[in-house]
Amino acid sequence: MGFLKEVFRIAGIVAETAVYAVGTVAAWVGEKAVYLAGVARKAYNDYKQRNIPLEKRRNRSRLEDVNEQILDLQRKKRRDRSLNEYDQYELKRLKKERDRLIDESMEHYEAESAREIASSPGEFEDVEIDSSNLHIVQFHVGQTVSNKKCLCGRPMILQWQRGTTSASSFHDFFWGCSGYYSGECNRKQPFHASDARYFTKTSRPEFQLTSKQLSSIALAPVSQQLIQTRMNKLRNEVIEKYLCPEHGVELVLKPKKDAEGLLDLYFLGCPHWTPGGEGCSYVMKLKSPAQLASVLETTTGKGLL
Ligand SMILES: [Zn+2]
Ligand SMILES: [Zn+2]
Repeated sequence: MGFLKEVFRIAGIVAETAVYAVGTVAAWVGEKAVYLAGVARKAYNDYKQRNIPLEKRRNRSRLEDVNEQILDLQRKKRRDRSLNEYDQYELKRLKKERDRLIDESMEHYEAESAREIASSPGEFEDVEIDSSNLHIVQFHVGQTVSNKKCLCGRPMILQWQRGTTSASSFHDFFWGCSGYYSGECNRKQPFHASDARYFTKTSRPEFQLTSKQLSSIALAPVSQQLIQTRMNKLRNEVIEKYLCPEHGVELVLKPKKDAEGLLDLYFLGCPHWTPGGEGCSYVMKLKSPAQLASVLETTTGKGLL
């Protein structure tokens, strides 16, 4: 059982109704969210004995091994057009192990989230989203989310509709199955009003503004310049809290060639991407000021403001 799932159980929240972006502790939990802070604090205290940074390092190193072995077998399959029985079995086993490692890494993020709640009392609140503060949803787009599973069993990822430049309603968001990127599942689910209650760190300066205010501040020429300078320093850096849904490893920040402005300039890509097109094609575009704020906050501790 995931760590936050256990927290929700203690708080009396039906875990199936709670969806949360583990990285930034957003939760779609309905009216019980107010109890969460206290319960998370208590649960985190019980959890402290574990050495999360060490567990995380071990998890990543094993995950990379497993990814490499899977990749080798997939190459072999392409080369020979098929795998022998032993390799088929091995590939299945490795994929199962990878799923388990990804679940474990989500749990690490959840524990870190709980630590954040525990160490910043009063900064987390229940927020209801409407058209004036949709940037709070945008902030969590593409982050690894717990507890929102597709019919096929894979996790779902919060996304924007293609071609949307500024979200103005819930219809601009949807849940997409993470199996889409490996061509195995393309199910989608609409983003409902009931998904739009967040338990999140409302003390963020960005969250104290309306979506419109944040956009006009971030897109003023002087701020664009500043944001680009800060983002360029993170080029090729690993961005915590954003995982490739297939490989389970943290994504890497990249600038796009021939971009049409700041909101077209950066994306997160999987480190298993290769120029030949055989590697992982998972990409998360950073096309809103709120997503830029989220990446900057994750890496430098300070968002846009
Ligand atoms: Zn699916
Ligand atoms: Zn990948």
